[in-house]
Amino acid sequence: MRVSVIGSGYVGLVTGMGFVKLGNEVIFVDVDERKIEMINKAQPPIYEEGLEELMREFRGKYRATKDYREAILNSDVTFIAVGTPSREDGSIDLTYVEQASREIGRALREKDDYHVVVVKSTVLPGTTENVVKPIIERESGKKAFKDFGLAMNPEFLREGVALKDFLNPDRIVIGVLDERTREVLGELYAPIDAPKLFTDIKTAEMIKYASNAFLATKISFANEIGNICKRLGIDSWKVFEGVGLDHRISPYFFRTGIGWGGSCFPKDVKALIRKAEEIGENPIILKAVVEVNERQPLKLIELLRRHVPELRGKTIGVLGLAFKPDTDDVRETRAYVIIKKLLEEGARVVAYDPQAMENFKRFYPDVGEQIEYASSGREVLEGSDAVLIVTEWREFEELDYSGKIVIDGRRVRKAEETAEIYEGVCW
Ligand code: NAD
Repeated sequence: MRVSVIGSGYVGLVTGMGFVKLGNEVIFVDVDERKIEMINKAQPPIYEEGLEELMREFRGKYRATKDYREAILNSDVTFIAVGTPSREDGSIDLTYVEQASREIGRALREKDDYHVVVVKSTVLPGTTENVVKPIIERESGKKAFKDFGLAMNPEFLREGVALKDFLNPDRIVIGVLDERTREVLGELYAPIDAPKLFTDIKTAEMIKYASNAFLATKISFANEIGNICKRLGIDSWKVFEGVGLDHRISPYFFRTGIGWGGSCFPKDVKALIRKAEEIGENPIILKAVVEVNERQPLKLIELLRRHVPELRGKTIGVLGLAFKPDTDDVRETRAYVIIKKLLEEGARVVAYDPQAMENFKRFYPDVGEQIEYASSGREVLEGSDAVLIVTEWREFEELDYSGKIVIDGRRVRKAEETAEIYEGVCW
């Protein structure tokens, strides 16, 4: 099939390259010239395992452009995978989805064949039918479900293992209202062996929010219990190993630490809260989930103070800046909150991350430009009075922490075994 993907970020690029691997031809569209140029040179603009090799192997089966018309007229299915960030008040910002819908509609004006438009961006229930559909209809002069197909297909991939997740997902959810669109998407996803759940459009939109809200809740719940465990001298990891053996609960994604970050959970949980309030519901669990998460990273500083009571003038090492290992993504990383607090307390900060230092500097100039960057984890250890572990990159398991004060937010076993003074946040 010929596929176009609007928005070539973490989701768009991985999804598009996944479709290429399955034998389709893909045209990527983005507004960012740098990304277009890099993709056309078979260089991934983001770090994601296996992506570079895949882009090299399938060169010629995909291309990138700024031109919507070229992409739409030369494809049968278009995925919208642009960002849906939070506004200041936590509500969802649909600017990019609206822009993409307008451009798609304009291009469809010139197209006679049945074209399927699929919303892959995470959008609140009702958005595809009440925002995307009327814009495309207005701009194209065509009717949805008669002249063009429309669907919502949420993405569940995890950054760091995104390609693997795309090709081996737990499930594929497809929200459709018309048979023709259902057939097209059924055929496109046929090579992937996973349960396929067909729903109506707004149910598909809600499944994504409910999934993210549940996962965020699972972690915040674990952290709340973990904080109690810490005070009682109990290892919360053992507790959740025991709890997770209950098959109704499952051991996955059930670990204590310094909380969740990233480009999805924070904005999606907040958007769901705003939506609930707008329609007259008070989502007390979701609000508590966010509150626990906002407090959790500061536990690391609390523990640090037990061993270094006065931070002014001290050099504090930070291992990890990405919101999780194996990615260069720093959106809503716990590292930002922690480093900001360290700087406020007058500490000097030396940080290291294998992939995310450039992004950190660029995304958070207020703190990113006030800290020093080391070229290895070892350099951080050598030059600091105490070390905080913020992201559990595998290479931090290889370091020798002897003689050091280590406050660990993620449980790096080597640190636990070799540090002079070791404190885990919930163990
Ligand atoms: P991203 O910021 O990495 O990528 C978005 C891309 O869209 C950028 O390259 C941007 O330049 C481009 N863009 C913006 N406006 C455009 C326009 N009008 N036309 C063409 N391109 C445009 O975002 P992402 O992390 O890939 O997320 C995309 C969507 O997928 C979001 O709704 C997100 O919630 C959802 N999602 C993300 C993940 C994840 O792990 N990152 C997982 C599941 C779902």
